[in-house]
Amino acid sequence: MVKLLDKPARIPGGLHLDAHKRESLRQPLQAAPVPELLTVPLSQHIGAPAEALVKPGDRVGKGQPIARASGYVSAPVHAPTSGTVTDVGDFPVPHPSGLSAPCVRIHSDGEDRWFEEPAGIDNPFSLDPAVIRHRVRAAGIVGLGGAGFPTSVKLNAGPERRVELLVINAAECEPYISCDEALMCARPLEVMQGIRIVAHALQAEQVVIGIEDNMPDAMHCLQKALEACGDDSIHIAAVPTLYPAGGEKQLIYALTGEEVPSQGLPIDIGVVCHNVGTVAAVYRAVVAGEPLISRVVTVSGGGITDPRNLEVRIGTPIETLIEACGGYTPEVDRLLMGGPMMGFSLLSDSLPVIKTTNCLLATSAEETPPPQPALPCIRCGKCSEVCPARLLPQQLYWYARARDFDKVQDYSLFDCIECGCCAHVCPSHIPLVQYYRYAKTEIWDMERQRRKSDLARRRHEFRLERLEREKRELEARRAKAKKALDRPKAGNADAKKAEIEAALARVKARKAGQAGADAAGAEQEKN
Ligand code: SF4
Ligand code: SF4
Repeated sequence: MVKLLDKPARIPGGLHLDAHKRESLRQPLQAAPVPELLTVPLSQHIGAPAEALVKPGDRVGKGQPIARASGYVSAPVHAPTSGTVTDVGDFPVPHPSGLSAPCVRIHSDGEDRWFEEPAGIDNPFSLDPAVIRHRVRAAGIVGLGGAGFPTSVKLNAGPERRVELLVINAAECEPYISCDEALMCARPLEVMQGIRIVAHALQAEQVVIGIEDNMPDAMHCLQKALEACGDDSIHIAAVPTLYPAGGEKQLIYALTGEEVPSQGLPIDIGVVCHNVGTVAAVYRAVVAGEPLISRVVTVSGGGITDPRNLEVRIGTPIETLIEACGGYTPEVDRLLMGGPMMGFSLLSDSLPVIKTTNCLLATSAEETPPPQPALPCIRCGKCSEVCPARLLPQQLYWYARARDFDKVQDYSLFDCIECGCCAHVCPSHIPLVQYYRYAKTEIWDMERQRRKSDLARRRHEFRLERLEREKRELEARRAKAKKALDRPKAGNADAKKAEIEAALARVKARKAGQAGADAAGAEQEKN
């Protein structure tokens, strides 16, 4: 049984970074304006992209499914507002690759009219867990902490597995990002009820909310909500503020002292982890009957006039949010999606907000100075000291650089959470995480190629086997037919032989009869 520690453990490595959260928390959570044109990507989650259900010219209502899940690990997509579908095709999406992907574009009619009046239920705890999973899947909910894994899949631990501990990840550890904190302060009851629904769906034996100790307001709001629910089975545990304490494996370690096995999942040790934003979305789906059409986004950084947190419709162009925050400051230098450690640069602010957009960061040159030229590794070991996954970043770097993909995996590349701590402290300014991402992409590509050639080989073998089988079957059919033809022939020969023998017998008998008659005649003549 996984046990909660009385005092949270210190995670390995990590960095103390300036939080920069107060700037965006000065204003209360507000709704962002609904734009005229929304671009809704069909793949905003881990897994198979959703398949479009609409075509240009279709009128849609708010919350109407516009794309269906195309596999178990997939999620449907819903219209964020009412209007008319103008396009279904490829448009630029927020992704490190900068590529385009299939999207549905909706021109808002300004009415924001529901497709169907949402039908919720009063007592979600009376529902069977499978019904909750079904509602969560139909609502298109994915992990809102940034990963985007379909939540319904994570709500199903499987018949063999017991969920000993549900961890609610409220440790929003990356600088500038404050969307979870804003949500916990604005809607703590929603969050708490969402936690209770998820705990019921998983039949979790214990529940703990892990929150960084620099969020006293959010902690206070959650405590009040907990008292209002009258549920004393949920614990709130403050973990020391240290980046990346909000990493799934790091938070589980801080709360339990247990390590998730290398390349394993939390459920391997009986734990499931969900983000606070995700559980609030579960509440809205199950109790209010609303699909996931919006999320809370932090808009912050020295390049933003009035940083804040906004409730944003999925598909809203980033420029609409920048405008809602007073526009850019003259110091603006870069635009990132995500935080300064794990986020990625965006080439344009016309890209849409997606389900996994937790933060838009417009930074000044002072906040994110341009990268300095990389120097040779001096083997100082600073990168290993700060690695929260207990890896050897310099070894990973050497082997990734040398394209030795077997070796880089021997050094547990896939346990790297790309937190950026190693690159942050590297005195040689080596962009270490870029090397790890490159190695991971290459290995995935090789794996895809291997699977493709395995499939092609299996298909070829199957074809040869089929041809061989058909040949054998043909030969067997021919042999059978020949046998069938030969059998009557043998019969004919026998019949003929019998006929000849009978004829010969008849001749013989005749001759014998003739001889007898001749002898009798001769006898008579003699007499
Ligand atoms: S911190 Fe940089 S220079 Fe030092 S060992 Fe790691 S990669 Fe090499
Ligand atoms: S990016 Fe990877 S290797 Fe570097 S510190 Fe983080 S987990 Fe360790």
